[in-house]
Amino acid sequence: MPTDSSDQTAPPAELDTEALQRRYRAERDKRLRPDGMSQYMRLTARFAGLDGDPYLPVRDREPVTDHVTFAFIGGGFAGLTAGARAREAGVEDIRIVEQGGDFGGVWYWNRYPGVMCDSTSLVYMPLLDETGYIPTEKYAHGPEILEHARRIGRHYDLYDKALFHTRVTALDWDENASLWTVTTDRGDRFTANFVGIGPGPLNIPKVPRIPGIDTFAGHMFHTSRWDFAYTGGDDSSAYRSGSGTEDSPVTAGAPLDKLNDKRVAVIGTGATGVQIVPSLAKDAGELFVFQRTPSGVDVRANGPIDPEEFARIATPGWQKRWLDNFLEAVIPPFGPPGPDEPEDYVNDGWTEIAKRARANLRQVPPEEFTPERVGAVMTEADFHKMDQIRARVDAVVDDPETAEQLKPWYRQFCKRPCFHDEYLQSFNRPNVHLVDTDGKGVERFTEHAVVVDGTKYEVDCVIFASGFEYGSPLHERMGYPVTGRGGQKLAEAWADGMRSLHGMFVHGFPNMFVVQNPQGAYFGPNMTQGWDEAAKSMAAVVGGTLSRGQAEVEVTEEAQNAWCDMLLQGHPHVYDVECTPGYYNNEGEPLGLAQRLEGPYPLGPVAFFRMAEEWWKSGEFEGLAFRRARQGGDDVDSGSRQLLREIREVAEMDPLHTQALPGSP
Ligand code: NDP
Repeated sequence: MPTDSSDQTAPPAELDTEALQRRYRAERDKRLRPDGMSQYMRLTARFAGLDGDPYLPVRDREPVTDHVTFAFIGGGFAGLTAGARAREAGVEDIRIVEQGGDFGGVWYWNRYPGVMCDSTSLVYMPLLDETGYIPTEKYAHGPEILEHARRIGRHYDLYDKALFHTRVTALDWDENASLWTVTTDRGDRFTANFVGIGPGPLNIPKVPRIPGIDTFAGHMFHTSRWDFAYTGGDDSSAYRSGSGTEDSPVTAGAPLDKLNDKRVAVIGTGATGVQIVPSLAKDAGELFVFQRTPSGVDVRANGPIDPEEFARIATPGWQKRWLDNFLEAVIPPFGPPGPDEPEDYVNDGWTEIAKRARANLRQVPPEEFTPERVGAVMTEADFHKMDQIRARVDAVVDDPETAEQLKPWYRQFCKRPCFHDEYLQSFNRPNVHLVDTDGKGVERFTEHAVVVDGTKYEVDCVIFASGFEYGSPLHERMGYPVTGRGGQKLAEAWADGMRSLHGMFVHGFPNMFVVQNPQGAYFGPNMTQGWDEAAKSMAAVVGGTLSRGQAEVEVTEEAQNAWCDMLLQGHPHVYDVECTPGYYNNEGEPLGLAQRLEGPYPLGPVAFFRMAEEWWKSGEFEGLAFRRARQGGDDVDSGSRQLLREIREVAEMDPLHTQALPGSP
C-alpha cells in the first residue's frame, strides 16, 4: 500500500498568527458579494451536452405500469446500497429509477479527464467485501468507480427492473391503497409499497451568471457533461493525470488530441478544477486557468494496491472495520482524546488532519478542556497546516508570482481540501497561464474572449468547473412534486426548512425515505458510508413494517419535532462566517432557520451512526408509528420473513439488542 509522502513531522514554524488572521479576513471581505447563492444559475441550452445524455443514446421502451415492493429514485451509490441492503434482507422486487443511462450517479455524469476519488478506494467504494472486488489504486479513478457501481447492480440483480434514462415527474401517496404512485417522463405509472429518494448533493450543475455569457461564440460545457466529441479522448482520459506520485507522474489514457491547437479556458479551481487542469495542461495548445479563490492542494501519493497486502487485510468483515477505523481516524474528537494515537489503517491526508488535531488537543490538560481553549488550539493547528500547504506551493511552482497567487489564505475547512501531485506542477508548463482574478471572478465574456480586470483572453473553448447547486432546498433539487398524506406537498411541509427524523423519515409522508446529508451524518469525506448506513436502516424499517403485518410506517410529529429541536440547539454551523465564501458556508450569507435546520447531528458522525444502528437493531424504531394491517393480516411475506431472520441474527450477535426484536414475544 502506498504511504503518504508528505512530511507531517516537520517542526512547526513560528507564525505571526495575528497577521495571518488579518490576511484571512481581508481575503474573505473582498470575496463577499450581495448576490450570495443567486450569483449562480443552472445550465442553459447554450451549454453543450445539456440535452439528453452525452455518453449513451436514449433507447425507446414501453411504459411500465406494474407494482414493486421497493422503489428508489436515483441510481448512484445511495440507490445501489439501498437496493443491495433491501435485497440482502429478502425484498424481491426492487426498482431503481435513474436519469442517466446506467448506474453510477455522479460517477456516471462526471467523466472528465483526471476524475478520481479524493477518499481512499478501500473505504469509498461500497460493498467491496460483499462483491469481492479489489480496487487497483489507493485513490481510484472515475472509470473504475463507475464500473464498481455496475458491479453492485449486477451482483444484487438490480438491473432487471431498473429504469434508466428516466426522470420521475411525480410521487403521489395513495391513502386508500397505502401505496406510492410513481410517474415518469417515459410514460411510466407504477406503484410501490415503499419509496426511497436519493438525489445526491451534486446532481445539478451550476455556472456563474457572468455578464455576456450567452454572447460567447466559442464552445462551452460543464465538467459534468464532458464533451469528448469536441476535446478528443474518451472515458480512459481519466487516467491522464493523478496516477503517479509527485516524483513520477504516470501518463496513460487517451489524449484530448482535438485540443492540441486550441486555446482553452477553465473557470473554477475547486476539487474538480484541480483534477482537470493536469490533463488539459498536457493536451491543450494554451490553457488559461481563471481563478477566483485558490484551493489548498496537499500531497496525494496515489499508487497501486498490492494484492498480496490486500489479501492480508481482507479477512471476513474487513471493510466494516476499515470504515469504522477511517471514521474514528478522520473526525477530530468531540472531547479530550485518549493518550494513545489510534491505529490509522488509511493513513492519508484526511486522517492526517484529525491526527494533528488530536496531537494538539492532547496538550490541553483535561481540566482546561473548554470550548474556548479547544478552539484556540485548533486554530493554531490550522494556521500551521495551511502554512505547510502554502510552503508546498513555493516548493513546487517555479514562478514566484504564480506561486503567490496559488496560495490559499483561509482555514483548511473553509473549502474542500484537495490532494493532487500534478496540479501545482502544471503551472510550470509554458502553455499554462494562471489568470488570478483577485477574488473577483471573471468580469465578463465577449464573443471570443474571457475578460478579467479589463484584459481580454481570447479562447476557443470555456470549460466550467464551477460546481453544483448545493444550498437550494432538497425538494427543489429533486425536481418533481411529492404529494403525501392528505394531499400535502413536500414543498409545503418544508416551506420553512427541512423537517425529518434522522434526515430520513418525514411526517405526513408514510413509507418514504429520504437519503441525503442534512439532519443526519456529517458532510464528511466519505459520503458512501452514510448512504450504506441509511440503506441498512431503511431495509430494517421496511422489514419491521412488513413483519408487523402493517402496511404503513410514518414518523410521528412529536419525534420529528424533537429531532429538529435537537438539531437547532446543536453546535453552530462549523464553517464560520470568517471563511472565504463558498457553498460550505452559504456563500458567507447568514444562516436562516432553513440552513440551520440542515445542520448535521451535533455529536458528529461516529455518534450518529452508532445511535442509528442501535435504533434500527432494537427493532422498536422509536418515533415511528406502524398502522393499517396489510391484507392477509399478519401473514408476513417471504421477503420480510427473511429480513426478520437477518435482523434476529444481527441482534443475537449483540446481546444488547436481543430484548426488543420485532415480533419477539
Ligand atoms: P466547487 O463549487 O467546489 O468549485 C467551483 C469553483 O468555481 C470555485 O473555485 C469557485 O471559486 C469558482 N467560481 C465560481 N464562480 C466563479 C467566477 N465567476 N469566476 C471564476 N471562478 C468562479 O465545485 P467542484 O466541482 O470543484 O467541486 C464540487 C464538489 O464535488 C466538491 O466540493 C466535492 O465535494 C465534490 N468533488 C469530489 C471529488 C472526489 O474526489 N470525491 C472530486 C471532485 C469534486 P470560489 O472558490 O471563489 O467560489
